Amino acid sequence: MDLYQETGYHPTRSRPAFDSVHDPDQDAPYPGLYRCLGCGEVIALARGRKLPPQNHHRHSSTQGAIRWQLIASHAPR
Ligand SMILES: [Zn+2]
Repeated sequence: MDLYQETGYHPTRSRPAFDSVHDPDQDAPYPGLYRCLGCGEVIALARGRKLPPQNHHRHSSTQGAIRWQLIASHAPR
């Protein structure tokens, strides 16, 4: 899966924070940018905020449920 083993150029690619997918209406584990896996919508969350609820935006039946994935963060650990 992880093709970015070199350090320095893409140091965030191998961090587990960017691999996990989060359900709506949960506490966001990190501040940063989250992308909806169903439709690609991107949101920015500040530290301590919750992920938007399932009714944040509309999906077609083929897009499925809203699921959020962290795509960028200032300080993931
Ligand atoms: Zn969506």
